[in-house]
Amino acid sequence: MAKVRFTETALRDAHQSLLATRMRTRDMIPIAEEMDKVGYFSVEAWGGATFDTCIRYLNEDPWERLRQLKAEFNHTPIQMLLRGQNLVGYKHYPDDIVTKFVEKSYENGVDVFRIFDALNDIRNMEKAIRVAKDQGAHVQGTISYTISPVHSIDNFVELAKDLEALDCDSVAIKDMAGLITPTAAYELVTKLKEETGLLVDLHCHCTSGMTPISYYAACQAGVDILDTAISPLAWGTSQPPTESMVAALQGTEFDTGLDLKLLTAIKEYFDDIKVKYGSILDPISESVDTDVLLYQIPGGMLSNLISQLKEQNAIDRYTDVLDEMPRVRKDMGYPPLVTPTSQIVGIQSVMNVLGGERYKTVSNEVKEYMKGMYGKPPAPVDAEISKQIIGDDEVITCRPADLLEPEFDKFKKEGEEKGFVKSDEDALTYALYPPIAPKFLKGEAEEEELSPRMPTDGEVIIAAEIPNEYSVDVDGDIFNVKILPTGVIDIDEAEPKNDCKNREGAIASSMQGMIIKVNVEVGDEVKAGDTICVIEAMKMENDIQAEADGTVEEIFIEAGDAIAIDDCLMVIK
Ligand code: MN
Repeated sequence: MAKVRFTETALRDAHQSLLATRMRTRDMIPIAEEMDKVGYFSVEAWGGATFDTCIRYLNEDPWERLRQLKAEFNHTPIQMLLRGQNLVGYKHYPDDIVTKFVEKSYENGVDVFRIFDALNDIRNMEKAIRVAKDQGAHVQGTISYTISPVHSIDNFVELAKDLEALDCDSVAIKDMAGLITPTAAYELVTKLKEETGLLVDLHCHCTSGMTPISYYAACQAGVDILDTAISPLAWGTSQPPTESMVAALQGTEFDTGLDLKLLTAIKEYFDDIKVKYGSILDPISESVDTDVLLYQIPGGMLSNLISQLKEQNAIDRYTDVLDEMPRVRKDMGYPPLVTPTSQIVGIQSVMNVLGGERYKTVSNEVKEYMKGMYGKPPAPVDAEISKQIIGDDEVITCRPADLLEPEFDKFKKEGEEKGFVKSDEDALTYALYPPIAPKFLKGEAEEEELSPRMPTDGEVIIAAEIPNEYSVDVDGDIFNVKILPTGVIDIDEAEPKNDCKNREGAIASSMQGMIIKVNVEVGDEVKAGDTICVIEAMKMENDIQAEADGTVEEIFIEAGDAIAIDDCLMVIK
């Protein structure tokens, strides 16, 4: 057994999990030199949700952050998390964009690429892996760890062998919900060491409370690398604390050799960071959530569900949704629950419960999933449910990105013509986030204000100082959280607009959200099942169908309208 090495996550996953990915570059740079002395295997400092958050909330250029960090870390490799063909976004990008993105990431400072796919479909990882290898980077292929009747230690090991065949240097076990037990960790690491020549990295979140024990079991099985976070940013939905793990292994055959004194100086710096970002720290993310053991779904997803059910004025259905979620996951062939499948499964479960009938309303994401557009599910999807959702539409069996046309040159040319794209990096930012990138690239974005701390009891902080809407990202899952002062009337309690409950042929909205498209006009003939409009709710697009044949008599909505539950959409007679 050799000594164990650590990947420090303070600059990416830890603040993504606990501080809504809001740490600024200027709060990273002052401590980078000290961190560089520690002797970590790597510092994870880029990718995941950091890219999106930089341009959306911080008015920071993520590429510039990478270059600044690179200038500070002279001895420690910089690691990034890459969502396979999704890069740092939420959909598949064409191969030319994947290639350019990986090349530029390497060029600007990424040394270690951790590459995963939500379905463990290697076809969604192979392009990024090959390009990163071509650059000379260390490539870490990833197993998205989950528990289901179709997942086993053996098929995870098969995936690792496939990753090794693609020339990966190491393999990460990505346990986003902290579900891995000490026994499973021991068995999986043992087999990976026996059957591949790869370095093995265990990456867990502490959500279930079992993680430090599982880390020790992994050490006994010969794990090479563990992911930890400096203690002020550890525990809960983040990683186990670096200093504690160093101390726990001291004097054993796994001794990391890391200097606790040096780590303490770094810890003190992050103590202050934690205070500085105190207004963002959610107590729920910091604590252990043992529900995850029962429902086998990420803790962050549960808090997400609660906030979304509240938004839909349906918190009394929470237990029903929890019961529905494993059924939806089964129907969909047991996808691991990580971005973006966690949100897709979670929201479909909400719709199945609130809609009163399973799959009566289906998000477009679920339709795409059923058509194979996200890749191959771990088990076949339920054939009847699939038929109900996509009818006889073709299900693809090819690699999804093979269907995508190249796009980089188009975005670059368009951005240059409009004057806001000045480099290939700018063009990538634009190509990844077309709706929000132009504002940032034109210099019109503003940095979100950071309230110094949460008010204590009896203390009043002027509301304007505190942002009341957060987009929280837990290991890649974006959750929209609205904070309402007590006593304020929530929009859901307001009277429904265009109340037409008693009117014949009236179609009321079953969800709160935004109209993104109206497909019919007054006077149109529609048939039962025709899509009459599309509502975006809970980050999913949902086609709303006519329930019966008829003529559109009146329309109360247009694209861009915010709507509440029971708002009348239109009248069809
Ligand atoms: Mn993670």
